[in-house]
Amino acid sequence: MRVSNSKKSTYDEKTNAPGVVSLVDDLLKKAVKSCASDVHFEPTGSELVVKFRLDGVLGTAEKLPKSLSDNVIARLKVLGGLLTYRNDIPQEGRIEISKTQDDGVIDQRLAVFPTIHGQRAVVRLFYKNRELIELEQLGFSKDIYTALKKIAAKNQGVLLLTGPAGSGKSTTLAALLRHILKCFPGKSIVTLEDPVEIRIEGITQTQITPHGQMTFPTALRSLLRQDPQVLMIGEIRDAETAKIAIEAGLTGHLLMSTMHSGTPAGALLRLLEMGIEPYQVTSSVSAVLNQRLIRKLCRKCKRKIKSPKAGFAGFEAAGCDDCFNTGFKGRVLIAEMVQLDGRLRKAILAKSDLDQLEAILKSKGHTNMLQDGERLVSEGTTTQDELNKVCGIV
Ligand SMILES: [Zn+2]
Repeated sequence: MRVSNSKKSTYDEKTNAPGVVSLVDDLLKKAVKSCASDVHFEPTGSELVVKFRLDGVLGTAEKLPKSLSDNVIARLKVLGGLLTYRNDIPQEGRIEISKTQDDGVIDQRLAVFPTIHGQRAVVRLFYKNRELIELEQLGFSKDIYTALKKIAAKNQGVLLLTGPAGSGKSTTLAALLRHILKCFPGKSIVTLEDPVEIRIEGITQTQITPHGQMTFPTALRSLLRQDPQVLMIGEIRDAETAKIAIEAGLTGHLLMSTMHSGTPAGALLRLLEMGIEPYQVTSSVSAVLNQRLIRKLCRKCKRKIKSPKAGFAGFEAAGCDDCFNTGFKGRVLIAEMVQLDGRLRKAILAKSDLDQLEAILKSKGHTNMLQDGERLVSEGTTTQDELNKVCGIV
């Protein structure tokens, strides 16, 4: 039976074993060339679909005949040092970087998983930290950038970052720490991370072992005896960490961390749910920064939208070789920031709910993430559709 592909496969169905070796090599090289973060090999009833995650979005890169599926996965398993004869269990491994490889990849992790259509495999690609990004280069609006600099200059308080995984929070925290290091030399800066994602010269970074002795609360408690001035905790996940972190922020430490929450107001309420007293939240938290990464239009192929009316209607994605036909290349931040003022403090002390806090923000003229993103749409950096998608507006 002929596989009906919308995108015709360039690979011969009769490819023999040596062919599979170069096929897998070519696919991985292509993924690295396009800066993909993950490569998925997904078997379906009729084919093996290869997908690349580019700028956070998964898209089909290739469809291979079903007959190649087992050989391709077997080849990956050989590369990853996995048991090729076990097809019924999940396995994880590492694909070694060859000595001659000079493409910026520092780690390639492989995970295979059995499905009803055969095994699926995912290769995660880790690249060398490209140039470390300075705070002013992250793309924050002028207001947020100025506010962040003010908070970074403080000697106490808590700055919380929110946003889902992959929204650039680690990059922002690293930029903030480097900013403090540069502007306030001599300040003692320490971090607790799981894992350490970005190494920064000049500060003390410690990796947490969540299932070992060095958990966030244990490490944080001892660390406070090391006389730090600035503390960065990878994530506040539990009530115990939250409690120590808030106390640290109240007692002469500048503390920065991340939390899982969709909105800044939600993060403040989450602290209360974790058992932090309202007065502790209002007296320690300086601000909550909520951020997302949004794809930038490819400069080579973006085109002006033809508007029936005269005037500027924005740009749209097209697609070219340079952007792997996605129309987008690279990402930039959109953000919203809530700083605690008298009204918000009063509302938190009065145990207001989410709707009440959101109403206060609205009446204060708070710029939300969608509004922040509008500046990128109007300057032609991204599209309205992309902004809506990132902000969860269908
Ligand atoms: Zn392009």
